[in-house]
Amino acid sequence: MGEHILIVEDEESIARVLQLELEFEGYSVDIAYTGTDGLIKFRESDWDLVLLDLMLPGMNGLDVLRRIRATRCGTPVILMTAKSDVEDKVTGLDLGANDYVTKPFEIDELLARIRSAIRTSQKKVEIPVKDEFLHEFADLSVQEQSREVKRNGKLIDLTPREYDLLLHLIRHPNQVLSREQLLDAVWGFDYYGDTNVVDVYIRYVRKKIDHPDEPSLIQTVRGVGYALKETSL
Ligand code: CA
Repeated sequence: MGEHILIVEDEESIARVLQLELEFEGYSVDIAYTGTDGLIKFRESDWDLVLLDLMLPGMNGLDVLRRIRATRCGTPVILMTAKSDVEDKVTGLDLGANDYVTKPFEIDELLARIRSAIRTSQKKVEIPVKDEFLHEFADLSVQEQSREVKRNGKLIDLTPREYDLLLHLIRHPNQVLSREQLLDAVWGFDYYGDTNVVDVYIRYVRKKIDHPDEPSLIQTVRGVGYALKETSL
């Protein structure tokens, strides 16, 4: 028996045509007409691929996808989207969809994508997992567990204090932090010196992370403090 495909699509005529085409190609097919029904069917059986419409009444395609991926299951999912769903398409891929087709699509194109997604999934199962210890801002990244700081992929060597300062900034991106806040967070309440030490360390960090010909990622907010922010063009 061929691979097992679940179609989640509320438009009956589209679902039926897809079913006929896929069965003709030798796949075994089941249809769910709502997101909820799709999830139930998904959990009840093993699937080689899910063909998921984005615009569904009630629980939409992205919700279904999120729940499928929350099960840490690597079953390939191909999204079916309307032309106007660009944003959803991107979100869908971020959520772990393997591919998408834009309606109206050519059945041959869809079949090719299905074959390719199934082939790829049989080789490896890859689920994007958000790394809660990784902070990214522009091309700057700070990994809390390894304490690795990178700019544009290049490792940057910071002292422990410089690292703590940058970590605090990148944990609060686009937020203005006063010298006092930074002092408290990085040096702690037991520090009795004046806030100039913050300015000094900001200078050290800038020198290490900034690209020489570009404005600093750490912006000075006059009279207030500092913010990790990209300059608006
Ligand atoms: Ca629909």
